[in-house]
Amino acid sequence: MISQSAIDTLRKAEIGARGLFIDGAQAEAASGASLLVISPIDGRPFASIADGNPADIDRAVRSARKAFGTGSWSRAAPAFRKKVLTRLAELIERHVDELAVLGVRDNGTEIGMAYKAEPLSAAGTIRYYAEAIDKVYGEIAPTADNVLGLIHKEPLGVVGVIVPWNFPLMIGAWKIAPALAAGNCVVVKPPEIASLTLLRLAELAAEAGLPAGVLNVVTGRGAVTGEALGLHGDVDAIAFTGSGPVGRRLLEYSARSNLKRIFLELGGKSPNIVFADAPDLKQAAVVSANGIFRNSGQVCVAGSRLLVQASVYDRFMDELLSATTRLKVGDPLDLASDVGAVSSAEQLAKNLGFVAKATEEGARLVTGGERILAETGGSYMAPTIFENVTQDMQLAREEVFGPVLGVMRFETEEEAVRLANSTVYGLASAVWTSNLATAHRMVRAINAGVVHVNTYGGADVTVPLGGVKQSGFGRDKSLHALEKYLELKTAWIAL
Ligand code: NAD
Repeated sequence: MISQSAIDTLRKAEIGARGLFIDGAQAEAASGASLLVISPIDGRPFASIADGNPADIDRAVRSARKAFGTGSWSRAAPAFRKKVLTRLAELIERHVDELAVLGVRDNGTEIGMAYKAEPLSAAGTIRYYAEAIDKVYGEIAPTADNVLGLIHKEPLGVVGVIVPWNFPLMIGAWKIAPALAAGNCVVVKPPEIASLTLLRLAELAAEAGLPAGVLNVVTGRGAVTGEALGLHGDVDAIAFTGSGPVGRRLLEYSARSNLKRIFLELGGKSPNIVFADAPDLKQAAVVSANGIFRNSGQVCVAGSRLLVQASVYDRFMDELLSATTRLKVGDPLDLASDVGAVSSAEQLAKNLGFVAKATEEGARLVTGGERILAETGGSYMAPTIFENVTQDMQLAREEVFGPVLGVMRFETEEEAVRLANSTVYGLASAVWTSNLATAHRMVRAINAGVVHVNTYGGADVTVPLGGVKQSGFGRDKSLHALEKYLELKTAWIAL
C-alpha cells in the first residue's frame, strides 16, 4: 500500500498541459483548444487537457485503421500480444503510486479504494487478458466427410472505448485489455473530468512496445468527441460505460452511421435485501454502508436501495446508522479518509437536488443530506440515508450516483422480490440470509446481472459484469468479454 509521505509528494507533482495521444505520440488538438482540469479536492485547476474535436477523432481513427491494416498487431502471434500486454501490466504496477494519486486528484475517490480499484485492478485485468489470448482456439465444425468447416475468430477492427469518470482506468481496462488482446486497434474517449490516467496509460503502452496507432486517446467533451466517435463510419464497435441517456444516443449514432455494434454498461438502482435471518446483522450493516457510500456512492453497482425485513428493521437501522456515522469523509489523499470527494461541483449539486426532492416527496431524512467541508473549496457530501421511501418516489426509481441511500421495509420474500424488480434497471443486487434455499430462490428471482449473497461488491475479473433491462447489454470482465471483440468467420471447404 502507498505511504502518506509518498502521497504528499505526488499530490504536488506538476502536470501542466496534456495533449492527445495519437499514432504513438503526444499530439496537439486540431483547434489548439484546451479544458481546465479542476480537482474536486479543493475546487482548484491543476492541469489542462486538449479539447478534441471531430477532426482529432478522425485522425485517431485513421491511425488505428492504418495500424490495423499493417497487421503488426492484428495479425501478430497471440504470444507477441501477450508479451507486450504483460509488460504493460508490469509498467502500471511500477507506476502504481503515481497513477493512483493522479487519478484521485482528478476525480476525488478516496486513495485507499482508488489504489486497488484503479491502477492495481487495471494491471490485473490487462494481465488476465494477456494470459488468456494464446489459449483461444478456432473450431472445426462437425460436418459431413466431404467438407471441412472451419470457424475462425478474428478481431473486429477499430474499437471505440468511452468510459465514465468514477473509475476511468479500471473500467477503461475492462474494455481496452480484451479489445487489444483480441488484436483490435482502439480509440479511447476518456471522461472529460477524469482523463489523466488514461493518457498516462497510453504512454506506458507505447513504452511497453505497443505499435504506434494501436491505442489512441482523444480527450474532449462527450457531446463533441464522443459523438464524433459514435458517428464515425470507420469504427467497428463502441464499448461504452456511462449513463442511460448517452447510451441511447450511441445506439442512434450507430443507426445513423455504419451500424457499428454498441455494447452498453449503464446505470443501476441496485437492491440490497436484508432478511431477518441474515448471518450477522452488524456485519451486514457495515458492508451495506460501504456498498453505498464508498467513492461517495459513485459506483455503478452501488446498493442504493436497501430493503429490510420488518422484524429486524429497527435493529438493522441502528447498526446501519452507527456504521454510516463512523465513516470519515474528507481529503481523498489522506489515508485516514474512508470517503473522499464527490467528483465535481455539478455532481454535488445534482445529489443535493435528489435530497430536496426526496424530502418534498415525504421520505424521512435519517442522516446527512448536506454539503460538508465547504471551507476546503472541494465537493464533499455527508453520507445520506432516507427511510419511509415508497416506490413512487424519485429516490426509489432514479439513479443518484451519489452517497444517498433510500430504505424500504418488507414483510415477505414475495414482497422483497417485487420491490427489487420494480425499477427499469437490472445491474446488481444483494441478499443477506442464512437460508441456502432462500438465497438460491432470490438469485433466480432477481432481474440483475449479479446477485451478491451475504456480501456486497468485490466481484473480480474472473466473472462477468453487466446488466439486464435498461442497465444495458454486453458484459465486461471474464473470458466472455473477449467474445465481444472477436468476429466469427466461416471457411466452408469442399474436400
Ligand atoms: P455519462 O454518460 O455522462 O458519460 C460517460 C462518457 O460518455 C463520458 O466519457 C462522456 O464524455 C461521454 N459522453 C457524454 N456525452 C456523449 C455523447 N453525446 N456521445 C458520446 N459520448 C458522450 O456518464 P458519467 O456521468 O460519466 O458516469 C455516470 C454514469 O455511468 C452513471 O449512470 C453510472 O451508473 C454509469 N456507470 C455504469 C457502470 C457499469 O459498469 N454499468 C460503471 C460505472 C458507471
